Amino acid sequence: MKTLVMKFGGSALGSAAALSQVLSIVLHESKKWTNLILVASALEGVTDMLFEAAHLAQMGSSRGYRRIAATLRARHLGLIEELPLGNLESTALEADVDRLLFEMLDICQQVASIPKENLSPEVGDRIAGVGERLSARIIAALLRQNGLRGVAIDGTDVIVTDAGFGNAKADIDLSEQRIKTHLVPMLSRNIVPVVAGYIGVTPDGRPTTMGRGGSDYTAATLSVCLNANELWMWSDVDGLMSADPDEVPDARVIDELSYVEVAELAYFGARILHARMIQPLEDKRIPLRIRNVYRPQQPGTLVRHIDNAIEASRIKAITSIHGLALLASRSGDLHGIIGKIQDELVLALGTPADVMITAQSSGHSMVCFVIPPHVGLGSLESLRHSVQSRLHESEVPESWTTHVVSVATLIGVNLNHSSLTLAHILEQLGDLQLLGLAQGPSGCSVSLIMHPATAHEALGLLHQLTLRHL
Ligand code: ASP
Ligand code: MG
Repeated sequence: MKTLVMKFGGSALGSAAALSQVLSIVLHESKKWTNLILVASALEGVTDMLFEAAHLAQMGSSRGYRRIAATLRARHLGLIEELPLGNLESTALEADVDRLLFEMLDICQQVASIPKENLSPEVGDRIAGVGERLSARIIAALLRQNGLRGVAIDGTDVIVTDAGFGNAKADIDLSEQRIKTHLVPMLSRNIVPVVAGYIGVTPDGRPTTMGRGGSDYTAATLSVCLNANELWMWSDVDGLMSADPDEVPDARVIDELSYVEVAELAYFGARILHARMIQPLEDKRIPLRIRNVYRPQQPGTLVRHIDNAIEASRIKAITSIHGLALLASRSGDLHGIIGKIQDELVLALGTPADVMITAQSSGHSMVCFVIPPHVGLGSLESLRHSVQSRLHESEVPESWTTHVVSVATLIGVNLNHSSLTLAHILEQLGDLQLLGLAQGPSGCSVSLIMHPATAHEALGLLHQLTLRHL
């Protein structure tokens, strides 16, 4: 018995042409697998518009959110009209679109009628999740029209999450129970479920969303609960790239990565996969493929379990992220303040998770924190003030400096095996200046902190290392 979960991203669903690609992929795979489960994202751009509608509702602008609902209606009905669907299917779909958008308008109206400072994330989720419920119904209808037993399922029926509205976390055990009762019986009746991604439900029945890009996470959760043989994620790119092609023109598709490498890749700036999806897949060793709906003959990128013990050191990708850094230094010992900075970080920056890299010189005379730019230079300054106010005069660093920095991260396997690897990296940079270097404990990443002005050249040079073994 072989089970495949396929997730289709918004960029693979936007037009009738894209949907006909989706259809031919599904028809092709349906012959090869015992069980096929599809997960749908909203059509490209739809979730952004729903967020905008929620925002307008909160501002009390009924004209604003109505305009968005009208645009969404026209967009979905236009697409339905273009699809080769019979009369019955298209009439039923049109009624579904109207019903779901009406529901959304109703919530917007409730929001608009009780003006509040902030929109509650719980209400926001009920608006934001409409896009996936719409697209799943369209795909299911298209399958039925073509001889498959497609049935749209709302994520709220099968994915149970915590109450972290806006960025909820899936509960694998509870989801598995729902999947066993709702989904598995369908599979044995040869139904192809089309699950609306991104949305879930709390154990007490309140709808949630799982953060931007959350359909990936839906797909991973389903794969784990169903013990799928593989998960394929379809979008409009050929796979994960060795660098951002906008920054490095000779970037290529990476053929294979381990789960750890892909997690590092996502963490250090590749905006591709949902951060929470990798761990559950890794736990069950479910292989993940990233493929292009427009070029299904391409193999894409395969993410799977790789035994590092038998691999030679190799750099597979390079990412870049722009950040902000606070450096504290003095000629004596900074030992006492490092703990205080760590405590203050939690208070000043919100969560320690906002700190991307911390680096400390061996003599404890320099300590450096790198945070993403959205956290803000102001927070670094307030961090500095609050730490400084807790220090004895004798402890105060001689200099505190804040910098805008770029962090280039090399991702690969066994990068910590020998110092020769680091030597190669540094040699490649020639006389470009570095502010810091940090190695990840997994041996899968080396991050270089540098001035933004140097970053572009450095990325090009470092990318050349991805083409050869070290
Ligand atoms: N539609 C949601 C978003 O745009 C979820 C997803 O596409 O995975 O974030
Ligand atoms: Mg995505």
